Amino acid sequence: MKQSKSMNDTNQGTLHRACPSCLGTKLEVIWRKSDVDFAVCQRCGMVYIPEVLESYATGQFYEDRTESFYLSDDKLKSDYDPVRFQREWALLRQWVPSGKVLDVGCSTGGFLKGLHEVGDYETMGCDVSQGALNQAQKIGVTVLRAPFLSLPVNEANYDAITFWAVLEHLADPAAFLAKAGSMISSGGICILLVPNLHSLAIRSIGPRYRYIMTEHLNYFSAAALGQMVARVGGWKIERITSMHFNPVVIIQDALKFREEVPDAERAKLLKRTNRWKRSGLMRPLKAAYRNVESVLSRMLAADNLVMVLRKN
Ligand SMILES: [Zn+2]
Repeated sequence: MKQSKSMNDTNQGTLHRACPSCLGTKLEVIWRKSDVDFAVCQRCGMVYIPEVLESYATGQFYEDRTESFYLSDDKLKSDYDPVRFQREWALLRQWVPSGKVLDVGCSTGGFLKGLHEVGDYETMGCDVSQGALNQAQKIGVTVLRAPFLSLPVNEANYDAITFWAVLEHLADPAAFLAKAGSMISSGGICILLVPNLHSLAIRSIGPRYRYIMTEHLNYFSAAALGQMVARVGGWKIERITSMHFNPVVIIQDALKFREEVPDAERAKLLKRTNRWKRSGLMRPLKAAYRNVESVLSRMLAADNLVMVLRKN
């Protein structure tokens, strides 16, 4: 649900990219899935897709699947479930208790919708999928229709800009971070959440893991993400952590290799995961689960990497 342009040369509908973290060009292919090569940067260890289909780079891919995935019944139920964004709301509130927040790649507005209930925020969302924005608007979320990179920079007045699972979709994530820097007020916060290259999931099952997928162009470790942040400049890293752990996904994917998990099945599992989080029957299991998640978090080995940045 995110967009990008530019970078290196374009030919026959694909975009050739250097390493998004260090701009290195020496790479080695380590995985191949759905006819796409995934490479590791020989300089910094970042994993990324070097040849990107233009429909991913322009965001057209996300526009095309809005109806089938983002607006499907199961996906909407999952996005609007009160437990879905609990950790994200808590994290934002911890750093920015109130103020003006922009969520980039807001999709159908699940994060912003509930944010009003946890604090006094003025919220705005933007996304490349117009269909998803229509849905967000329908539930009362204020949306910006222009692509993020084209938004006016004259008002650097956001207290926070959030990227929940967005940078992995972008051909040029550094450009988005730089743009965020131009829109946040001095001392404001930017939160990045990306799939974690050094998660237990990827360490244990590698490319079998369903979130190693062709629409995920970038796989950051904490070091690679930190390096990209430093290259963009203007930020102080306040916190690096990792969150979320879904053992069901790891077990399913370990048992059965599939090039792609169908959208409908992914949406259904997301919805079911929320139901488990609420279920009383699961209480003893949940305590054990929380312990595992907290250990993984501290080891930076949970599913997603989170970085909290403060604008200088
Ligand atoms: Zn690199």
